[in-house]
Amino acid sequence: MVAPPTISGSRILLRKLREIMEAGGSAQERLDRLVAMVASTMVADVCSIYLQRGHFHELFATQGLKPTAVHATRLKQGEGLVGLVAESARPLNLADAPLHERFSYRPETGEDPYHSFLGVPIVRSERTFGVLVVQNRVQRIYGEDEVEALQTIAMVLAEMVASGAFGDLSGLSEVEVRPSRPELLPGRAFSDGIAIGTVVLHEPHAPLGRVIADDPVREEHRLDAALEKVRSAIQHMLDGDAGRISGVSREVLETFLMMASDPSWEVKLRDGVRAGLSADAAVERLRGEHRAKLAAARDPYMRDHMHDLEDLDNRVLRALAGVDGAASAAMPPDAILVARDLGPAELLDYGAERLRAVALEEGAHMGHAAIVARALGIPMVGSLESLLSRVEAGDRIILDGERGEVRLRPEPAVEHAYKQRIDLRSARAAEYARLRDRPAVTKDGVRITLLLNAGLALDVHHLDDAGAEGIGLFRTEFQFMVSETFPRLTSQTLLYRDVLETAGERPVTFRTLDLGSDKMLPYAKSEREENPALGWRAVRVGLDRPSILRYQLRALVAAAADRRLRVMFPLVSTASEFLAARKLVDQEIAWAVRHGRAPPASVEIGCMVEAPSLAWSIPSLRGHADFLSVGTNDLMQYFFAADRGNARVSDRYDILSAPALRFLSRIREDAEDAGLQLSICGEAAGRPLEAIALTALGFRRLSMPAAGVGPVKRMLLSLDLGEAAGAIAGMLEHDAPSIRAELTEFANRNAIAL
Ligand code: PEP
Ligand code: MG
Repeated sequence: MVAPPTISGSRILLRKLREIMEAGGSAQERLDRLVAMVASTMVADVCSIYLQRGHFHELFATQGLKPTAVHATRLKQGEGLVGLVAESARPLNLADAPLHERFSYRPETGEDPYHSFLGVPIVRSERTFGVLVVQNRVQRIYGEDEVEALQTIAMVLAEMVASGAFGDLSGLSEVEVRPSRPELLPGRAFSDGIAIGTVVLHEPHAPLGRVIADDPVREEHRLDAALEKVRSAIQHMLDGDAGRISGVSREVLETFLMMASDPSWEVKLRDGVRAGLSADAAVERLRGEHRAKLAAARDPYMRDHMHDLEDLDNRVLRALAGVDGAASAAMPPDAILVARDLGPAELLDYGAERLRAVALEEGAHMGHAAIVARALGIPMVGSLESLLSRVEAGDRIILDGERGEVRLRPEPAVEHAYKQRIDLRSARAAEYARLRDRPAVTKDGVRITLLLNAGLALDVHHLDDAGAEGIGLFRTEFQFMVSETFPRLTSQTLLYRDVLETAGERPVTFRTLDLGSDKMLPYAKSEREENPALGWRAVRVGLDRPSILRYQLRALVAAAADRRLRVMFPLVSTASEFLAARKLVDQEIAWAVRHGRAPPASVEIGCMVEAPSLAWSIPSLRGHADFLSVGTNDLMQYFFAADRGNARVSDRYDILSAPALRFLSRIREDAEDAGLQLSICGEAAGRPLEAIALTALGFRRLSMPAAGVGPVKRMLLSLDLGEAAGAIAGMLEHDAPSIRAELTEFANRNAIAL
């Protein structure tokens, strides 16, 4: 019979562990005593410790296997059941181990008589550096409590190894328990900016030296205080308007509060502390359990539940470490947040003032956190493979949101070089700020209108900082993308009204929902399509499911009561699609009037030019549309047949090429002939070199991300547009795949500020 690892059982285990550590003796002697103690307390026939040494897992100590196998038995990385436990970083519980396909027979260990096997990873800070195993002769599955007990021991063992408690053990120096070398990790740039600072882990770990509690009563008080803090923070979010800004619904917050008040969750945490763990370690142990269940769960409801529980565990750990959102007194002033992924509400919880930057192991450029980071102006890099296993809280880190990479524990010379880059950027930013209130007029007197691309209420404040004259593209889908559920009519109306109010006299062009392709909703079921960029997206969805589009138009009409309303439709391919969409706006205005609501004071309806077919239909829009906006991001992906989201092809073709510029020039002429106001709102409009070409082709309204306004204005103030137009006409005479180099040389020769 195996001893039931009750609270008192675990407490005995932890007490014995401590005694072994404090008793002195060599590291090998202490490891030997440890395995003997675990085997006898858990009534196991075998207890062994394998630690990773180079590319092998080496048997460092055993009770039950042949002593001659110690330091002789070495399993290649990934080999055997030990390799499987290390690889998956999860417990493995088998009634008959030799029958498992990954079982690797090692005669020198003498393990023939043993059938049942329980292996748990020895993990710290996401790094697995060993495996702790117990085995028994009888065929049986170990109980949940036994698994938990062995995990607790593995956790303490990991802590001892990491803190150097076995310092004199030969071979241990090759076990990498704490990364210390400088490393460069490539990722993807999600939000522009460069920052140098100190790593703060969003999912913190129990601090070194604080796994076994010195004073259990004090630990229980710490746990109580942290739980209270977490509950009141959620309540505070429910009472305040953080939910509205981030789009997190009340329902989600209420579920969270319910879970945080669930006695069974709290009892488990309390049991850990009463068994002798520190409060932090008790939470970390429970988080490990939730993670393992999450990884194994198939049922989506169960997965969501485990995910939420893990999130709650993390909140308690942060509260214990003092780095939780509102009361983050313990956060260093130069905090750079490191996380696997982050929700928009969590990012808002930390707030832009407390964070210099954010680094994510996962995430997506069009993911919620990235959208919010861009709105808040927080530099962000994502898709950083194995980031979490390579950093520790407190490490120095450089985050480069320009190149999309991070440097961990950089050499002083590298840090110095980056400081210079940061200084240069701030000098530039100061220069842009000085230009803020100056109109963008070229040297030869041509007035260019600079507008902003926005998507959240937070973005609109950039109008003043950047000195833009209005919003040329408001991407309404962002509100839907950062919400947990479909935004209701009132929340849509509130957002649009907020935006119009903040913009004041400045015009705002709302674009109706552009979903599909790279912009998906987590809560809406979508069918997999072979070619999503060419699929059922944008206005196509709106026309096929008019109820959704009408709902949104109703909110826009309501928000613009007695004001100017400008609406445009995304990815329109034919003039008839535009006419059908426009009709829905007319119907919604009529509906508002019928219901006694004030209609907008004026209405302008336009569409995006993103499909080449629409670019050839501009004459048919005469008298029907009020304006056009060229979306070069999509237009160019269709023009060159090169997926904008596929890094292998997205940079293969240049908008600064003769065919692309001739095409854009043709669109500009057709719009002028049809008497339609024209702007351009793809990312290219916000890059100074591209903006030279676009204005030279006759574009006079450029809409761009906030970061582009300063650099483009600075360029325009130094530009002789007539001269540039002449030079570019010359460059377009031959069919170059790119005029980038020639145009750069022209700009440099004529002292145009790039
Ligand atoms: C575009 O396609 O150029 C555009 C501005 O729209 P989005 O980037 O939102 O697809
Ligand atoms: Mg587009």
